[in-house]
Amino acid sequence: MLGEIIRGINTTELSYLYDSYKRRMKVRIVKFVQERKKRIYIVSNKTIFHPKSGGQPSDVGLISSDNFKVQIMKAMLYKGRIIHFGKILEGEPRVEPVTIEINWKWRYLLMRRHTAGHLLDHCIEGVTSRNVFTTDSWLGDNCYAGYRGDPPAKDETLKVEALANKIIDERRKVKISFIDKKELLNLASEAPNIHRLPEADKYRLVQIEGCKPIPCTGTHVKKLDEIGKVKIKETRKTGSSYKLYFDVETSSNS
Ligand SMILES: [Zn+2]
Repeated sequence: MLGEIIRGINTTELSYLYDSYKRRMKVRIVKFVQERKKRIYIVSNKTIFHPKSGGQPSDVGLISSDNFKVQIMKAMLYKGRIIHFGKILEGEPRVEPVTIEINWKWRYLLMRRHTAGHLLDHCIEGVTSRNVFTTDSWLGDNCYAGYRGDPPAKDETLKVEALANKIIDERRKVKISFIDKKELLNLASEAPNIHRLPEADKYRLVQIEGCKPIPCTGTHVKKLDEIGKVKIKETRKTGSSYKLYFDVETSSNS
């Protein structure tokens, strides 16, 4: 089905890789497939919709023009193309320039949680003096980061949380760079995901100041104080690994 939709279409320009703060942009629809009950798949030449990937849930939002409006429920990455799936709210879609807009409240929460996840990796290593090996993560509700091995002891967990919040208070920057494979192996050979990466011409390297860099295509905040506060809720052992449940808080929702 998805293969059918993207046949003959160029790969999508992933604008969120270059500017995670872009909430709205003009793009050109290159193809759409309409289904029953006003369901529709839309592919555009570029997009700010981050698909569900690497533990980050999909963006949601709107695609609209003077002629129609579609509510986007999810974005899927398939062979380098982003396919937006949604429901027609008004009008008749056509192949034309449109405005795409993400639900910013949802995305910004994901950016804060995602960046907090990287920070927790660093803080667990700092407190336990052991390298962390990430397994998986989920940044939707019941947000967690997964790691190999035994969870830190209770007092260590409290120290991890305190260290994370101390580093947030230092307002460290999050740097993004695009590098080739040679540079990647030079700079991030210890990154836990280094051997799971698909082959690419360029890799996106993310680094919180003072922490190890990691290749990552997710969306992050630019400065750590945007996270607010990190709260570790619990750690749960599952087989030979554990999940560390956490969330981010701001003064308005804490
Ligand atoms: Zn990331």
